[in-house]
Amino acid sequence: MAVRATVSRFPIDSDAQENSGLPWGVTVTPFAAMDEENRSPEYGTDDQILPRCENCWAYFNVHCSMDQWSWTCCLCSQLNGFTSKTTALYSIPQSCPELRSSFVDLELPDEGSDGGLQPQPVYVAAIDLSSSEEFLELTKSALLAALEALGPGSLFGLATFSHKLGLYDVQGPIPVVKNIFIPPDTEGTISVELEDVMPLLQFLAPVETCKDRIASALETLRPTTSWERTAAAGQGLDGVLMGGRGFGVAMEALFNYLGSEYGNTFALARIFTFLSGPPDYGAGQLDTRRYGEQYASKGEDADRALLPEQTPFYKDLATVAVQAGVCVDIFAVTNEYTDLASLKFLSIESGGSLFLYSSTDDSTLPQDIYRMLSRPYAFNCILRLRTSSEFKPGHSYGHFFPDPQYENVQHIICCDSYATYAYDFEFAGADGFSRHTSEPPVVQIVFQYTVVVPPSELSNSGLLTSSRGKYSLKRRLRIRTVQFATAQDINKIYDSIAPEVVLSLLVHKVILASLEQGVREGRLLLHDWLVILTAQYNNAYKLVQYKNGSSATSQIDVAFSQCPEMQHLPRLVFALLRNPLLRLHEEGVHPDHRIYLQCLFSALEPSSLHRAVYPVLTSYSTPDKQAYPRHSLSRAALITSGSPIFFLDAFTTLVVFYSSTADPTLPFPPPHDCLLRSTINRLKQERCITPKLIFIRGGQEDATAFENFLIEEQDVDGSGLTSVTGFVSFLEDITQSVLEYMK
Ligand SMILES: [Zn+2]
Repeated sequence: MAVRATVSRFPIDSDAQENSGLPWGVTVTPFAAMDEENRSPEYGTDDQILPRCENCWAYFNVHCSMDQWSWTCCLCSQLNGFTSKTTALYSIPQSCPELRSSFVDLELPDEGSDGGLQPQPVYVAAIDLSSSEEFLELTKSALLAALEALGPGSLFGLATFSHKLGLYDVQGPIPVVKNIFIPPDTEGTISVELEDVMPLLQFLAPVETCKDRIASALETLRPTTSWERTAAAGQGLDGVLMGGRGFGVAMEALFNYLGSEYGNTFALARIFTFLSGPPDYGAGQLDTRRYGEQYASKGEDADRALLPEQTPFYKDLATVAVQAGVCVDIFAVTNEYTDLASLKFLSIESGGSLFLYSSTDDSTLPQDIYRMLSRPYAFNCILRLRTSSEFKPGHSYGHFFPDPQYENVQHIICCDSYATYAYDFEFAGADGFSRHTSEPPVVQIVFQYTVVVPPSELSNSGLLTSSRGKYSLKRRLRIRTVQFATAQDINKIYDSIAPEVVLSLLVHKVILASLEQGVREGRLLLHDWLVILTAQYNNAYKLVQYKNGSSATSQIDVAFSQCPEMQHLPRLVFALLRNPLLRLHEEGVHPDHRIYLQCLFSALEPSSLHRAVYPVLTSYSTPDKQAYPRHSLSRAALITSGSPIFFLDAFTTLVVFYSSTADPTLPFPPPHDCLLRSTINRLKQERCITPKLIFIRGGQEDATAFENFLIEEQDVDGSGLTSVTGFVSFLEDITQSVLEYMK
């Protein structure tokens, strides 16, 4: 579990917090194997139950002072007694993980009452047949890759949807499909029980014995013909030709099928949906004309109109998925407007991923799904954040859903080691930390989760030979208690800033603002934030001298020259304003692409987000020798550096660029055994998605894909109207705004 704070020295009270101009909060990556400094947790294997504070329910930890019979809670100062059992245990401190580290991972005792949940993981592919041959080819190769990643003992079901829902039985000698028609009206649901159409255990096939049969069933998939679609749509829908994609109804039926009337049947069920366009048939159909209308009408703000969901259908459906314990991953392969703004809830609320590929040609879908399934994940998770009593969590951000009853408790159906959440803090009272200088601020994060332990791990540990070949479920409790310092003055806050974490909190805030008030408003918020921060910083360092009520422009320090840690912030804000996340509709940002980025960015851990917003540019003198570790994203910087090879990491894209003046004897593309290649392979390995890799030889090939990333000479607002452009003029604009603000 990694926990990163925007500032490691907390402001002393709300005045100090406001005066600093910085967001105050943390990002939490609960299932990361290490903490933010690469330390592993201390593991506990015994059934000993950790003592909890009688007042605030925080768990006992190394930051609590203790004597033989009692301990004082480091969050609320409550004095708590130890039981005689705990006293005996703690007399041998080396044996207790909670006395060795502030980061512990404890196996919870087997309750024996896991509700008879089936421990084998269940995966269902739901494939859009209202699509093309190319789409189905890509989906097949993705699923073949997925089957390779699934461990033995997993169950797999194959379903298709169009104007009918198809369920496949692949366990017999030839695959059998049963089709259920989906009613075309917008209120309809499938009236038969899927269990009656095909018993669930006939639908769910063991992967290890049925891999070949699943593969041959995939071979039989064909797109529905236009004749079929027209016939299905011909039922009184004013002759409009529909795609016949009954996605909403099909999903609802599958959730109920897997969930059953008794709640969860399986400990972990995951549905991969492959979608080639918007749902346009039956309940949950989306009106995609709103996209066209927005284009046509000049007056309305498309950025504002296309971001909210057009129907609560998928938000409600997400609740059904969550109740059934089903995680939904959406793979949309389309360049058509699909209204992900409405669909996204299915994946983000259920802990799934949302992937968008604009074409089948250069799609990394097979690699992405393979990687997604190969890495460990936790499920059925509960995340709880506690703070010491002087402050409390304000907003929480990320792909979880709040507990209906308890505050600051979040549920996550499925969570991998990358998934990151964020919280901001506010003071509980006017005093802040001023009266409690001896008690440092503390944050305790508790993450309860289940993992599926494959049979091999059990037999390795020499346990239960009778359970060979069977999965087992392990419930664990991971606790991290972090102590922070306080800052007596603003300069100390500024010195303790973590720019990447500040960026994370800012990105969450601007996404929220754009969803609620439109992209324009999100941009304004970000711009104003930098103006206020710059003004506060200049005030704090007393850099502006007021002479007769006016101050000179030259005295405003927009470069944060007194504080090295802050110097990167203006560049990050500039880059974020240039990012498709915040660029305007009229600049050609597709609304689905914007939603995809919102979903991606709001789950990234800070250093990945940093790359996605301000890519890392390095240079090489040969494929085996790095020249400079870091360049700013400016054409001028490239030219002056004189390096022949550049490597740019923009998180979703990696670009290797050979300058047009590079020595022609340098091998292109870089050979497989060189330093540059091994760097690329390492980056690809570490990433939650598969980045697209592009090689460009300058002067011979179109370099646009690389040059678009060199943002510092580009307009911040995309208007192209100003005569002086780029980062320099952006700073001038900020300076002017700071002066106005300070007046
Ligand atoms: Zn307490």
